[in-house]
Amino acid sequence: MGSHHRQRSASEAAAAAALDAEDPLAAMRREFLIPRHDDGTEQVYLVGNSLGLPTVATKRYVDDELDRWATLGVAGHFTGETAWAPYHELLTDQMSAVVGARPEEVVVMNGLTVNLHLLLVSFYRPTPQRHKILIEDHAFPSDHFAVESQIRQRGLDPATSLITVGPRPGHDTIDPADIIDAIGRHGEELAVIMLPGVQYYTGQVMAMADIVRAGHEVGATVGFDLAHAAGNIPLEMHDWGADFAVWCNYKYLNAGPGAIAGCFVHNRHIADRTLPKFLGWWGTNKAERFEMKTVFDPIPTVESWQLSNPPILMMAALRASLDVIDAAGGMTALRAKSERQIAYLDQLLDEVIGDRIEAINPRPLEQRGCQFALRVTDESRDGKLVHAALEDAGVACDWRHPRVIRVAPVPLYTSFADIHRFVEILDGLL
Ligand SMILES: *Cc1c(COP(=O)(O)O)cnc(C)c1O
Repeated sequence: MGSHHRQRSASEAAAAAALDAEDPLAAMRREFLIPRHDDGTEQVYLVGNSLGLPTVATKRYVDDELDRWATLGVAGHFTGETAWAPYHELLTDQMSAVVGARPEEVVVMNGLTVNLHLLLVSFYRPTPQRHKILIEDHAFPSDHFAVESQIRQRGLDPATSLITVGPRPGHDTIDPADIIDAIGRHGEELAVIMLPGVQYYTGQVMAMADIVRAGHEVGATVGFDLAHAAGNIPLEMHDWGADFAVWCNYKYLNAGPGAIAGCFVHNRHIADRTLPKFLGWWGTNKAERFEMKTVFDPIPTVESWQLSNPPILMMAALRASLDVIDAAGGMTALRAKSERQIAYLDQLLDEVIGDRIEAINPRPLEQRGCQFALRVTDESRDGKLVHAALEDAGVACDWRHPRVIRVAPVPLYTSFADIHRFVEILDGLL
C-alpha cells in the first residue's frame, strides 16, 4: 500500500466512525450476536439476506419455553402469559406491522413454500378461459416449483399455463413497464400474478402497488413472495390491496434457521367460504377446538388457514427478533438508516472500486432494498474466487450463480465501519 493510499483509507475509516457515532440506531448492534472470524474479531456480516443473526435475547425466549415445558408439562398449553395454544397470537401485531397489514390478515405458520402452496390452493382457481400464472423469469426455484406443481395438480400444462416476465436482453433488472405490459397482454387469461416484493438476485424492489392495480384491472389475483422484502423495506400489503403474500422469517427477520414463516390474506377474502382451502384443526373455532367436532367452523381471520399446532420454540425465537425491531422503532426507522447505508456503500463503491466492480442492483432508492448485487467487471476473473477470498478475510457475504456477490448491510446490526471495511478488503483483493 502506498502512503497516499494509506492516508485515504485512514480518513475514510474516520468518516465511517463518525457516521456510526451519529447513527441513532448504532446501539441496536449490541442486541445481536455477531459471528467471529478465525482471528477472533467480529465478522463483517453482510449476509443477513440469507440468514439473519440471533438476538442476544433469543436464547432466553426459547429457554423460557423449555423451562415452562419442564415445569408445567402439558399444562403449558393453557397456563401463563405465553400459553402455547394461543402463542402465535403474541406475534400477530408486530408481524402485521412489518408487512403493513391488519392483524386479522397475518398469521405465522409453516415454511414459506408450504404457505405458498396453501394460498395457491385457495387463490389459483383456473377456468378454461382464465388459467395462467405469471411469475418472473428465473424466479427463486422453490417458487417456480410450487407454481409449476400447482398447475399440474389442476391437470393443466405449465407449457401453456405458466408465463414469465424478465429483464430485456442485456439487462439485469426488469423494466417495471414490462410487467404491466405482460399483465395487460395476457389479460383475461391471467388467473394469478405471483411476483417477488424484492428480487432475490438483483435486490430490485417491484412496484407492488402498480402490479396489484394492473392485475385487478384484468381480473387476476395478485400475490407476493416477500422473502427478501419483509424486514428489508416498509410494506403496505393491506393498502396496496394485494390478495395474498408469503414470507420467511430467517432472512431480514432474524428468527433463526428454518424459522416459522408468515402469510397474509387480504381481509376482503377472509370470510369468503367459497375459497377452496386445505383444513386442519388449528383453523377451526378456538373455543371448540378441543371438543373434537368434525364440522369445520373457520376462525374469522387468516388463522383459519392454519393446519397444525405450531412449533413454539421457533415462535419464541421470532418473538425475540420482533421485539428488537420494535425497540429500533420499526420499519420506518430501519429504512431511514438503511437509506443512509445504501448511499454510503454506493459512494464508496463509486470512489474506491468503481472501475473494477459493477453493481447490477437498481440505483434509484425506491427500486432497491439493502441488498447489493455486485459483479466483478473483469470477466476473466472468477467472481467465485473473489467471493472465497472475501470470506477468508472475514467478510460473510454470498455468491449467487452465475455471476453475483450479494452483500446486504442490515441496519439493525451492520455498522458504517463494517461497510467501509468491506470496501477496503474488496479493494485490496481486486
Ligand atoms: C429464501 C426464499 C425462499 C425459501 O423458501 P423456504 O420455503 O423458506 O425454504 C423461497 N422463495 C424466495 C423468493 C426466497 O428468497
